[in-house]
Amino acid sequence: MKNILVVTGGGRGIGAAVSRLAAARDYAVCVNYRTDAESAGKVVQDIMAKGGEAFAVAADVSRQAEVERLFRTVDGTVGRVTALVNNAGVVAPQGRVDQVDEERLTRLFTTNISSAFLCSKEAVLRMSTLHGGSGGAIVNVSSAASRLGSPGEYVDYAASKGAMDSLTTGLSLEVAAEGIRVNGVRPGFIRTTMHADGGDPGRVDRLQHLLPMGRGGEPEEVAEAVVWLLSPASSFVTGTFIDLAGGK
Ligand code: NAP
Repeated sequence: MKNILVVTGGGRGIGAAVSRLAAARDYAVCVNYRTDAESAGKVVQDIMAKGGEAFAVAADVSRQAEVERLFRTVDGTVGRVTALVNNAGVVAPQGRVDQVDEERLTRLFTTNISSAFLCSKEAVLRMSTLHGGSGGAIVNVSSAASRLGSPGEYVDYAASKGAMDSLTTGLSLEVAAEGIRVNGVRPGFIRTTMHADGGDPGRVDRLQHLLPMGRGGEPEEVAEAVVWLLSPASSFVTGTFIDLAGGK
């Protein structure tokens, strides 16, 4: 039976690298995106050109009704999901805690953590042996920020990733005996366009000298760890984290 993977925010950056690598390892991949249909379509096109299986589904994963539609679409297109990567995430313009407001906090926390809860719920309902499923694997894309706190940049973003780590720990224990493994990755300073959304497109170049390895990371380096954590090669690994942050 083919593994069926949902990658939230799979059209760009780290999510796109995960989608491409997983498809090359024979997963049927649902490339979720919110607005950038062109990028998601390109990922799907590239995968299919190489003989892989992929399709794109637009859904704002911070909204419950859209998450439910996303998973129903996967059911109807390729079948019951066996793997989920909770990757969709955003930053907000850099600033201090004394500058935050309700609108910003709602957007950050619903996009970065409510989404992971809502998608995990739909995945567990389909994967858990308790619900008639045959197991599966979930990988949560957190951040080194959950450990470092991002002072002066975005403590709220870091806190949303701290919540992601708690979700990973708690859910992994909740479903460990139901055939589902749940793990996290914590990237840092990866070359994607996310930093431009925080108002600092040159962030990785500017700060990479602070890392012990002296360079930023590539989305493909994160994807390797994510796909390993999804795969049977990590069959005895759950509730743990891989830091992909150049040593910091
Ligand atoms: P990115 O290049 O900006 O891509 C973000 C992706 O998330 C896009 O595909 C976007 O969809 C999607 N997305 C955003 N909100 C969504 C929503 N509500 N519903 C569905 N999809 C949504 O970001 P990235 O750098 O690859 O980041 C991916 C993950 O890695 C994030 O969780 C981020 O926090 C984490 N991370 C990144 C870094 C880094 O240095 N880049 C470091 C640590 C952690 P559209 O294309 O449609 O806009």
